[in-house]
Amino acid sequence: MTTRAPVLIVGSMAFDDLELPTGTFRNTVGGSATYASFAASTFTEVRTVAVVGEDFPQDVLRSLETRGVQTKAIERAAGKTFRWAGRYDADLVGRTTLDTQLNVFADFQPKIPADFGESPVILLGNIHPALQSSVLDGCASPRLVVADTMNFWIQGEPAKLGEMLKRAHVLIINDEEARELSGIHNIRKAAADIRKRGPHTLIIKRGEHGALLFDEVGIFAVPGFPLEDVVDPTGAGDSFAGGFVGYVAAHLEKNGATERTLRHAMLYGTATASFCVEGVGTAKVEPLVSSDVEARVAQIRALFDLPR
Ligand code: AMP
Repeated sequence: MTTRAPVLIVGSMAFDDLELPTGTFRNTVGGSATYASFAASTFTEVRTVAVVGEDFPQDVLRSLETRGVQTKAIERAAGKTFRWAGRYDADLVGRTTLDTQLNVFADFQPKIPADFGESPVILLGNIHPALQSSVLDGCASPRLVVADTMNFWIQGEPAKLGEMLKRAHVLIINDEEARELSGIHNIRKAAADIRKRGPHTLIIKRGEHGALLFDEVGIFAVPGFPLEDVVDPTGAGDSFAGGFVGYVAAHLEKNGATERTLRHAMLYGTATASFCVEGVGTAKVEPLVSSDVEARVAQIRALFDLPR
């Protein structure tokens, strides 16, 4: 019997104020580590590294634990939890960040427990790139380091981001961020430029249009799954990343982190993210089980299964 390798995830745990076309939702629990940990725990054991303030609900930590997430490296610090506010356009595609308050993340120094440092798969979720690098300093020799980031850090911390990128094997960003990071509009040329900065594989998320993977073998595409009801896109990227690393870790022992495994993981990340957007906040990713994801992977495959 093959064992499932664990995943270490660092990222934000947050309160989000979401202005959606359907209404405003304040103090929604979110954050890159929250979404990614719920998502990855559908497939394997997760070890989360983050900081929350005194105001963060204990029942969210309990809910993570019931899904096999180890929470001992989620520090509860004096002060307020990270906070983000965003407004979506009527089409639910465009998004404007209204406010970002680092709060307890401003002074956070992650401490990686010894057993966490042995994790073979690492997800550096969207957070300050210096924090992402310091987590890697506490890890022995990971087989696969997957990183996420966003325009906030591309604009605000380009040097620290550049250092982190040298240590990442896979970078997951959206098309707008790829253009911003490279300064190149053409997505294929932008991908080639970014892959020279460290990551051997670049995944570009294109929202409802799916995702593209660029590596030395070539280009691989997964379509977005057309949903009837898109409720809240917040956390879709983090859920994609969590589903992606969860799948890789669960298949690491048997298949290795090969180009083929990463291509399969694209399907599982896409399927996981498609659930996330069907509910507000983490509502639809928190109860996810692998049979739900498997069923949706089959639906996504059927989209391009043309009888010969
Ligand atoms: P996504 O929709 O996948 O881009 O992720 C949205 C989540 O990222 C929200 O729950 C926010 O709390 C979190 N977030 C937004 N901005 C940042 C930031 N600068 N650093 C870390 N997390 C962030």
